[in-house]
Amino acid sequence: MLQELRPQTIIEPFRIRSVEPIRFTTVAEREAALRKAGYNPFLLHAGDVLIDLLTDSGTGAMSSQQWAGMIASDESYAGASSFYRLEAAVQDITGFRYVMPTHQGRAAENILFTTIARPGHVVLNNTHFDTTRAHVEHVGAEARDLVIPEGRQPRNLHPFKGNMDLDALRAAIREIGPENIPLVMMTVTNNSGGGQPVSMANIRAASEISHEHGIPFFLDACRFAENAWFIKLREEGYADRAPIDIAREMFSYADGCTMSAKKDGMANIGGYLAMNDDDLAVRCQSLEILTEGFPTYGGMAGYDMEAIAQGLYEALDEGYLRYRIRSMAYIGERLAAAGVPHVQPTGGHAIYLDAGEMLSHISPLEYPAWSLANALYLLGGVRGVEIGSVMFGKQPDGSEKPAAMELVRLAFPRRVYTQSHVDYLLEVILGVYAQREALRGYRIVQQGPVLRHFTARLEPLA
Ligand SMILES: *Cc1c(COP(=O)(O)O)cnc(C)c1O
Repeated sequence: MLQELRPQTIIEPFRIRSVEPIRFTTVAEREAALRKAGYNPFLLHAGDVLIDLLTDSGTGAMSSQQWAGMIASDESYAGASSFYRLEAAVQDITGFRYVMPTHQGRAAENILFTTIARPGHVVLNNTHFDTTRAHVEHVGAEARDLVIPEGRQPRNLHPFKGNMDLDALRAAIREIGPENIPLVMMTVTNNSGGGQPVSMANIRAASEISHEHGIPFFLDACRFAENAWFIKLREEGYADRAPIDIAREMFSYADGCTMSAKKDGMANIGGYLAMNDDDLAVRCQSLEILTEGFPTYGGMAGYDMEAIAQGLYEALDEGYLRYRIRSMAYIGERLAAAGVPHVQPTGGHAIYLDAGEMLSHISPLEYPAWSLANALYLLGGVRGVEIGSVMFGKQPDGSEKPAAMELVRLAFPRRVYTQSHVDYLLEVILGVYAQREALRGYRIVQQGPVLRHFTARLEPLA
């Protein structure tokens, strides 16, 4: 009898039948492209990028089964079979009775918070994602983050750094009063906190505390499948459970969810709002009709709903999740071995390089993370995104304050890049790291009044 092989090589759990060429450029060509883009990677043409890690949102590759569903979709205005397939998939995985399709995740947030929140209210979350926070604040309510302290420490190896601080949750409910808290939310995985997972025990406890006070508990479920995989890997009692069962248990503690199907829906666009409460569902549906569309299509075409109905199950496939999360861990191991500072442990969808530590010779207001992101592009054609003082440094009064951390996020589209792309990426990161002393800061020469990082133009310092 042969002994079973335990391969160390990460194998993509798919073979490729449709390819999209990527373009190789020289350093000189990239210099010219970046100068033309005002040294802002957001303003680059995607065709000038070799490996695009700007975001994992809507950038994934779809399967042959998803494409087959799209061709066979039903585009009826009302009662399309594609809607019923989406509804059945969401009900099967989440158990929620009402499923309202939306054009993407933020539309679900808009409907939910416009319906339930108003000035004087406070919404509690482990960490609000930017669009979630913006929608809470847009209706005049406060968005408060209650992640555990370990979740804010880049090098703390806590297995569930996305967990909510339960004592802080209890204290906040006491201080604010349950009547002023329309919702407690849990973001799985915690995107703004580095894609870090939340444990089942923490979801269960946060749900119990909310329900003791009569407060609804919702999941921001964008990366529910990745979160389920981390529970399987790291939480006692879940090693032998299938990801779909773990996901079902996660949703069983919640009264509803918002979802961006551009993440673990494995689709290029779409989302939904789902819930159990009859009265809230009727109120949300009225707004859905006003802002998105008839309830059996919301903001989507029938073919989008088909892609998601299939994609939700593919996101829960063990082979896929093993490959995806293992790829992130592999990059983390290689970076750690080379001494490259990054956020640990690695999360689900992205790697975060710590430019503050790597480029300590560049002061925060000369934007070290921006400099690192640009160096990755110049040296290797890799596009990441700065999460540092260009993104967060400008204060409402116009002054500048360094951000808490200077990070470069490299987010991985689903099923798009292979192991050799990852190995090439590592060569580029290590190449920049070896030449880090030569990197210089930047200054902003032109910027908009809000969200300046999207459109700012910069200049390298001499
Ligand atoms: C992407 C995202 C959203 C918003 O979804 P969109 O589809 O981009 O509108 C909300 N919450 C989290 C955690 C996300 O990652």
